[in-house]
Order: sequence, then structure tokens, then C-alpha cells
Amino acid sequence: MTEARPRITEVSARAVTIPTDAPESDGTFAWTATTIVLAKVQGGGSEGLGYSYAAGAAQAVVNDSLAAILKGREVFDVGGIWEAMRWQVRNLGSRGVCACAISAVDAALWDLKAKILGLPLCELLGRRRETVPVYGSGGFISYDDKRLREQLSGWADEGCRWVKMKVGRDPDRDLERVKAARQAIGETGLFVDANGAWQPKEALYWAERYASFGVAWLEEPTSSDDLEGLRLVREQGPAGMDVAAGEYGFESFYFRRMLEEGAVDVLQADATRCLGLTGFLQAANLAAAWNRPVSSHCAPAVHLHAACAAPNLRHMEWFHDHVRIEQMIFDGAPELKHGAIAPDLSRPGLGLELKTQDLQRYAA
Ligand SMILES: [Mg+2]
Repeated sequence: MTEARPRITEVSARAVTIPTDAPESDGTFAWTATTIVLAKVQGGGSEGLGYSYAAGAAQAVVNDSLAAILKGREVFDVGGIWEAMRWQVRNLGSRGVCACAISAVDAALWDLKAKILGLPLCELLGRRRETVPVYGSGGFISYDDKRLREQLSGWADEGCRWVKMKVGRDPDRDLERVKAARQAIGETGLFVDANGAWQPKEALYWAERYASFGVAWLEEPTSSDDLEGLRLVREQGPAGMDVAAGEYGFESFYFRRMLEEGAVDVLQADATRCLGLTGFLQAANLAAAWNRPVSSHCAPAVHLHAACAAPNLRHMEWFHDHVRIEQMIFDGAPELKHGAIAPDLSRPGLGLELKTQDLQRYAA
């Protein structure tokens, strides 16, 4: 490299809130809009883009706390900047909103580095696969049965090998919904997500019933803070039904504890929360060391390149709300083909460009 090494000249974040296309709810939460915090890092004549689905407060963490320590640093020093960002938020509480802010900036840094090098990010990270299977994810409790059937069977028709629906709010109604879903999707794999709604013994009770509908994946059957509870469900639940959790992991110690406790069959990790693509790959490597597969949680556009590089990756989540937002605001958002998505290798970095005009109307 003959030129001076590129340095970061500008860092900023903005939050936009986008209404859902219908009310959405799960076992423990309900929402009608989703906020995405977009981070931008400039340097070397290029611009990196990252994001997190988080509160608007993450925007303030980037602009007020992280930006100052990034400016002037070498763009390619992604690992060193990642360490510095973690120390920078130490006194604010490094998990939660701060971890989301770091996640967005880390993705933007990787995107920028790959763009400057003229590489699709998966090649910079070390690609293991060219396409990644996804499971269709939605099936909100707020949907009526018609929409539930249409959404889940729609993904099955597009080649998804698995689809996921929410449960955990009204047990008797859930059983009817699971039955309706199974009828709609035929032999396609059926996943359920209780978002921590049950006590462990309740979870076992429902797991047995769902087993008769061929449910193959039980996500957060009990609070993901209750690692003993997850382990009980995992060890005593029906054979062939994987217990999955990890979406609220904000750093690698959390994932280590989850694996050490034997709490999960499949570790989920969310790069928009767990300290970015750097943290996501750490989680995947930890899972590999415990011989557990990893699955990315939500936000498919930012996970895709890292998912191509991650060891032991089983699949990615194709989450209705985020797929819709990402196709709305990014040129280059991944497109579902035969139940899988693939990076566009002709585009450098994450391959995403903000559609700024379309975004303007959602500005806070
Ligand atoms: Mg979940």
C-alpha cells in the first residue's frame, strides 16, 4: 500500500421509526413500529454503513460517546477500535443500548474496510459458504389464522425448509394456531418461539403437545436469564425438538455461560446487539467449541456476510418485520431464492446503499 493508511474522518448515527404493516405481538411483547439506528463511518474516500434495531438512545451513544474516539483512527484497525469502544461505554453500562450502538458502528467499520479494499465483506471475513438457508419468521400472535396460514405457507412455497411462529400468550389458542400452521405448511419444518413466556415445567408441558405437530425448534421456552430452566427443558423435552436462545446476548461472556450451562441445542446470536459482526463471529466460534450450531437472530441484511463466514452456522432468521424494512430502505438488501439468501459478490462491503429519499419521511 503506497498511500497513507486511511483514517476515520466522520462518524454519525440517526434513528428512524417505521410503522409495521399490521400490529405485531409475541408471548411477552407487542409493537406497531420498529426503530432502526443507522451508523455511518467515513474515511479513505468511502463510507461504511451499519445498523441496529434499537431505541433512539443508541443514536445518542454513537454521536455523543463513540464518535469522538473514532475520529482520526485508522480505518483498518477494526479490532482495536472495537476494544476502545467497549472501554468508552464502561461507565454507562456496556450491555443493552450501548452494545447496540457499538454493534452498529462495528458493522459500519467492517463495511468501510471492505469497500476501501474493493471486496465483498464475506471474502474479507473468510467465506465458508456462498449461500445461507433461512427460515421464514413471523406468525405473530396478533395475526388471525388466515394471515398466519398465508404467511407461513408463503415462505414454504418460496422454498424455506422451516418457518417460525410466536406462541406463549394464550395456551389453548396457541394450540389451535399451531395446528392451523401445520395444516398450512405440510411437511415444512415448524418452529415456535415463546419469547420467555413460560415457567420451565409449563414449557415442558407445551413442548410435549407441540411435539405431536412435529415442532422441531422451541425458542426461549422460558426466560433466557434462567439457564437452569432452559437446561431442564432441553434435557427433558421431546427428542428431535431443539431448544434455542441467545438473542439477548450482548457480549461473549453471556454466550459462554449459556453454553457452559448446557442451556441450548442451538445458540442464537444477534449482531445488532452482541457487539457487531466482530461479536457475532466470536459467538459462532464459542458455539463451535461446544459443538453447537449457531443461528443468526433477525436483521438478515447485516448478518449475511458474517453468516457466510461463521463456523457451524445452521441457518439465518428471515424475520418479516426486518425483511420488509430492509427491502424498503436499502438498495442491495438480500432477496429470498429457493429458501436461501446469498451476497451479491459484485458489490463491495455489505453491499447495502441507503435509499435516502425513501428514508426521509420516517426521520424522527
Ligand atoms: Mg425469539
